[in-house]
Amino acid sequence: MADKITVGNVEITAVMDMVPPPRPPEQMFPEVSREDWGPYDDILENGQIQLYYGVWVVRSQGQTILVDTGMGPGPHEHLDNRTGNLYEELRPILIPADRLNNTNVGPSDEVTIVVHTHLHGDHVGWNIRYSGGMPAPNFRRARYLVPKLDWDYFNQPEVLEERPYIKTQVLPLQRLRKMDLIEGEYNITDEVSTLPTPGHTPGHQVILISSQGQKAMIVGDVLHSKAQVYEPDWTAGVDTDKAASRRSRADLLDRAEKEGYVVAAGHFHPDDHIGKVVLQEGKRFWQVL
Ligand SMILES: [Zn+2]
Repeated sequence: MADKITVGNVEITAVMDMVPPPRPPEQMFPEVSREDWGPYDDILENGQIQLYYGVWVVRSQGQTILVDTGMGPGPHEHLDNRTGNLYEELRPILIPADRLNNTNVGPSDEVTIVVHTHLHGDHVGWNIRYSGGMPAPNFRRARYLVPKLDWDYFNQPEVLEERPYIKTQVLPLQRLRKMDLIEGEYNITDEVSTLPTPGHTPGHQVILISSQGQKAMIVGDVLHSKAQVYEPDWTAGVDTDKAASRRSRADLLDRAEKEGYVVAAGHFHPDDHIGKVVLQEGKRFWQVL
């Protein structure tokens, strides 16, 4: 169980925004029966799927990169009025100890890049703050990197209608001139890049880290549950293209196993969220780091 891991010269730190209420497994994976869950019963918590809304801080070559921004402060009515804690959780991680007591110093100023794996509500929630109805970026020194295919998809009128948070947490980035739309494999630093992994959403991307011969990946929603390491065909009900989602997951798990990647999965339990995909006696398993 690790909250922080070093990969070559790159440091990756887990930050928890919020723990949402548990949900029935069939709500998350509608095509998977309770019987299919049999061998993975221990992954469920009291028979329910428990997600975690964790994000990642990546430090590389002088940049402080925040991978996704969680669910946001809330309280979130549809999630039992629970609240997000990202901002407070980031303070001790980003602010040097000697300045921690200075309330004028916020985590906002330390982040130089925000990159989104995709544009779902639990990944963009701390992008923007409002005062007197006016939007301002929560991470005011940062460029926000948004996958163009997701920008195009979530900007469709019928999608916008269903997802009002896009109007409050994503669209203002453009007017505030804080956003760069990115496509394909994009280098954030020499050690950190994006890889398109469509399926969960059209523009979904994972973050790859490669430094001093060591490798890691931050997988976003390619993996919601540890069970998908064993059952890569299990797709979330919300995946926009289920066949592409299966393909992206299968390819990524192959790569992780064959090339020995450290894998960071923000929706996993914090005891489990950094691991490796290991082959033993012909079967894959998740080896916690
Ligand atoms: Zn998610």
